[in-house]
Amino acid sequence: MFTLSPLPFSKEALEPHISGRTLEFHYGKHHQTYVDNLNKLITGIDLENESLENILLKTATNPNQKAIFNNAAQHYNHTFFWNSLRPAAAKMEPSAALLSLINKNFGDLEKLYAEFKAAALAQFGSGWAWLVLDNGELKIMKTANAEMPFGPNLKNLLTVDVWEHAYYLDYQNRRADFVDTVMRNLWNWDFAARNL
Ligand code: MN
Repeated sequence: MFTLSPLPFSKEALEPHISGRTLEFHYGKHHQTYVDNLNKLITGIDLENESLENILLKTATNPNQKAIFNNAAQHYNHTFFWNSLRPAAAKMEPSAALLSLINKNFGDLEKLYAEFKAAALAQFGSGWAWLVLDNGELKIMKTANAEMPFGPNLKNLLTVDVWEHAYYLDYQNRRADFVDTVMRNLWNWDFAARNL
């Protein structure tokens, strides 16, 4: 059985950028529902006692297990998203190691923000935008629905949820403003550095 981990901050800690009300729904309802559905779907089958990572690996390419993959993946993605965020009051900048990679792979931090925002906007419909380390190079990726970047030499560093439920209460249709605000004010660069 999987459980919803506590948020790494209070529900109001992201205000004014993401409201407590958004977290009530996004964490308390959407994320909880993915966990509940995953538990229901794996009860009584061979995946019941597997780790989340093993469930993802075993179901990713099996069309008959798409519902299990989707709910497991959304549990992984949302947990990763909460860990990608820091309280609004916490000031944080990329570590020296990250900054040197950013400068090497993007030019500077502003160019990373611009490229990430463009990827997030180019994701048609629901999905995720990601900062990843792929074979030692920083890259930006986008994924549809519940998919996440995955590969033998790939590490996810930070993400932003671009499903409408992530921003509609606070930003309505303005996905670009939401993504820009999250990157600049809420990204947890210490979490990214730990994933390097
Ligand atoms: Mn979401």
